[in-house]
Amino acid sequence: MGRKFFVGGNWKCNGTTEEVNKIVSTLNAGEVPSQDVVEVVVSPPFVFLPLVKTSLRPDFHVAAQNCWVKKGGAFTGEVSAEMLVNLSIPWVIIGHSERRLILKESNEFVADKVAYALAQGLKVIACIGETLEQREAGSTVAVVAEQTKAIAAKISNWTDVVLAYEPVWAIGTGKVATPAQAQEVHFELRKWLQANVSPEVAASTRIIYGGSVTAANCKELAAQPDVDGFLVGGASLKPEFIDIIKSAEVKKNA
Ligand code: PEP
Repeated sequence: MGRKFFVGGNWKCNGTTEEVNKIVSTLNAGEVPSQDVVEVVVSPPFVFLPLVKTSLRPDFHVAAQNCWVKKGGAFTGEVSAEMLVNLSIPWVIIGHSERRLILKESNEFVADKVAYALAQGLKVIACIGETLEQREAGSTVAVVAEQTKAIAAKISNWTDVVLAYEPVWAIGTGKVATPAQAQEVHFELRKWLQANVSPEVAASTRIIYGGSVTAANCKELAAQPDVDGFLVGGASLKPEFIDIIKSAEVKKNA
C-alpha cells in the first residue's frame, strides 16, 4: 500500500484566540487535494485544542504537541494521553527537538512517551534529528538511527506512527535541508527500519521532513522518493500552509 502524503502544522507556543480563529478561517477556505491524497494535521497549543477541533474543517485533524509519559496524576503542569483521548484528539507530536534540547528529554523518555501514547490509542508524530555539530561530525545517520532504535525497542506496531526527520539546524532558521540531504537521511532511515524492524514497516511508515519548509521549497522536497510529507512550523501559521499541503500533488503525478 502506498504511503499517503502527510502534512502537519506545528503551531508551537503561538497564538491568541483571535489569531487562532484567523488561521482556522484561512485553513477552512483553502482549496487542497482530497483526503485520499493528503492527510492534514494541525497542532495548536493545548489550550486551543478544543476550539480548533470544533471549528476546523472535518477533513483536517488536530494533534497535541506533547503528552505525559504515563498515566496522569500528581504531575503538575502535564497533560496526559488519557485526557487527549477523552477530548477525541487523535494525534500527538512527541520528541520535538525543542523538548529534547531545552527540556532535556532523552531518547528513552521520548520512546516511553511514544509507547504510552500509542497504547492509549493516540497516533504519534515522533520527531528525530541531528544538531549542526552532529552533522558536521558526520554522525547524522548514527544519531537518527539511535533515536529511532530507542522507539523501536518499545513499540511493536508502527501503523500509527509517522516519523518526522527534523534536522535541528534547519528548524526555525530558514536554512532548509537540500532535497538531496533530506532524501539521503530518509533513505537511510527506511533502510534502518527494513533491517531492524521489518521490510513491511519500512515500506509503509511515513517519514516526513521538517525544518524551514515553505511554499517556495516544498515541491522539490516532496518530489524526493522517501519524503512522505512535512512537519511545518513557522509557515503553518501563514496562508502559505495551503500551498505546502498542495505539494502532495507532486506525488500523485510521480
Ligand atoms: C518544527 O518546529 O517542527 C519546524 C519544522 O519548524 P520550522 O518549519 O519553523 O522550521
